[in-house]
Amino acid sequence: VIRIMAKLPILHFPDPRLRTKAKPVLVVDDTIRRLANDMLETMYDAPGVGLAASQVNHHIRLLVIDITEEKNQPMVFINPVITPLTDATVPYEEGCLSVPSVYDFVERYARVSVTALNEHGESFTLETEGLLAVCLQHEQDHLDGKLFVDYLSSLKRQRIKAKMLKQQKQNA
Ligand code: ZN
Repeated sequence: VIRIMAKLPILHFPDPRLRTKAKPVLVVDDTIRRLANDMLETMYDAPGVGLAASQVNHHIRLLVIDITEEKNQPMVFINPVITPLTDATVPYEEGCLSVPSVYDFVERYARVSVTALNEHGESFTLETEGLLAVCLQHEQDHLDGKLFVDYLSSLKRQRIKAKMLKQQKQNA
């Protein structure tokens, strides 16, 4: 079967739809696999290392991540549950496809475990640290309607919001 993948429009902060709490995926079927593929295409094109379904206006618990330089290790996480494996946090400079050209430091758990379903509906668990651990926590937040700018001071967030609104007005 030949299928053309499609790039999806990404919602941008402060779009209120980004605040929607995502619902669990009930069945991992072709519709979900197609969405996951389109999300990967969208993420690679952006380019980014992670994308939550919430960011493309699908409010279900689905994430795609690829942290490799070569962009050849796509990972799909359906209904992910993330558990910290340490109290220790690390600062990491984060960005977000929904908040373009904004980067700032956020503290995340240094080591986490994630249990999820893959694109075949099979459960898997992995323990991870570094960029993948940070990315998982950032993307998981999207599913709960939370953005990395929420961790910054309200002054910074207001400035970012004003900058985004100005950009959006210029692009409109
Ligand atoms: Zn993000």
